[in-house]
Amino acid sequence: MELTENQEMYLKILDEFIEQEVEPRLKELDTVDEYPFWMQQRMAELGFTRLVAPEEYGGLGENMTTLLLLIMRACQYNNTLGSLLNCSNNANKLLSFANEQQIETFLPRIVEEGKFMGMAYTEPSGGSDSRAVQTTAVLDGDEWVINGTKSFISYRSAVGSWQVSAKTVDEEGNEGISVFLVDAQAPGVSYGAHYDKFGWCGSDTGDVYFKDCRVPKWSVCGEINKGLHVSLSTLDGARLVIGARAVGYAEGAFEKAWEYASTREAFGRMLTDFQALQHYFADMYSDAQVCRGYLMHLASELDAGRSIGKGGSIAKLKCTTMAQQVCQRAMEICGGMGLLKDFGLSRYYEDACVLITGEGTSEIQKNIIFKAIKKDHR
Ligand SMILES: Cc1cc2nc3c(=O)[nH]c(=O)nc-3n(C[C@H](O)[C@H](O)[C@H](O)COP(=O)(O)OP(=O)(O)OC[C@H]3O[C@@H](n4cnc5c(N)ncnc54)[C@H](O)[C@@H]3O)c2cc1C
Repeated sequence: MELTENQEMYLKILDEFIEQEVEPRLKELDTVDEYPFWMQQRMAELGFTRLVAPEEYGGLGENMTTLLLLIMRACQYNNTLGSLLNCSNNANKLLSFANEQQIETFLPRIVEEGKFMGMAYTEPSGGSDSRAVQTTAVLDGDEWVINGTKSFISYRSAVGSWQVSAKTVDEEGNEGISVFLVDAQAPGVSYGAHYDKFGWCGSDTGDVYFKDCRVPKWSVCGEINKGLHVSLSTLDGARLVIGARAVGYAEGAFEKAWEYASTREAFGRMLTDFQALQHYFADMYSDAQVCRGYLMHLASELDAGRSIGKGGSIAKLKCTTMAQQVCQRAMEICGGMGLLKDFGLSRYYEDACVLITGEGTSEIQKNIIFKAIKKDHR
């Protein structure tokens, strides 16, 4: 694929940043489970946190193809780097539903400060069933009062605003689910300790509590009781972003395994001289290339303003499954070294496992794909 001048320029800036500032701290990033504020600040300074935000709102107006290319490169090194690139995509997500007050209050936090618009959807009772929300929002005069607990919520210390799903009742007494945009530091919002988890080191994932959290009436995203439309409307892009992260992990793990196998001897030969391992490398490389190509195709469709239908779910399912398999194989190729944290390979596998679960598990993606196939065959 031929890159545009802009894409080459952004990749060059990102590569220089990685080489000079990220690579020297990779071990720390892989082992110290704290959000790297320094990285957020530098990514904002370099302009990456405004990459795909529209120019009229202070963004650089780049497209999905450019975003995915950069995320694939970033995730070959570090997961948070990929998340920060996606921050600018939060601006487009916000603009897809926001009213004037929401844009004025929250957009600058994304575009100027590089703070995420986080998703607070999952609850202790479950994440796959987005309708099984227990959190409530009740209208009291000119304010909504939100009460509930959200769990498994990421990048809490780096978020400027939360999209929060809650059960609501409209003026006619109809029940539904609405989504609210809430200041991350609003009174009534508090945070539990971060989880000790497998993968996504430094993502500050944990509970977010809403206790009598009062927000202005204009905090509703879109229409009352139509919250699921808000969350579903930007899922296509979000799933491609997950796919791009997955390709990045797979390619990062591939390089690490290649470096090891091409310098390690066994039985008087290089590991890369064994045909069994040659076939592993051929499979790993081909699988990542196919996923990369499919993502680029879907991104160009979105950039052309066309819908990608079930493509987003197919990409999420296939890219994340591929990444988990490739990263696991890469670890096996490196023998015992592959299992040492210090070696810097196992974290790709851990991160890939997180992708399988986040933003709709593989089973949920298969449900969506099957439903779409069935509809196509009516
Ligand atoms: C590191 C990390 C970060 C996260 N960050 C966020 C975040 O920022 N914001 C947020 O809102 N959430 C976040 N999540 C939560 C994530 O979205 C949920 O974990 C995910 O949606 C699955 O929900 P669950 O864990 O409750 O599993 P469940 O919903 O309990 O599912 C358990 C199993 O049952 C399967 N299953 C469930 N329903 C069906 C069905 N209908 N058909 C077939 N199989 C089914 C699932 O596929 C899964 O294998 C994060 C999770 C992790 C691990």
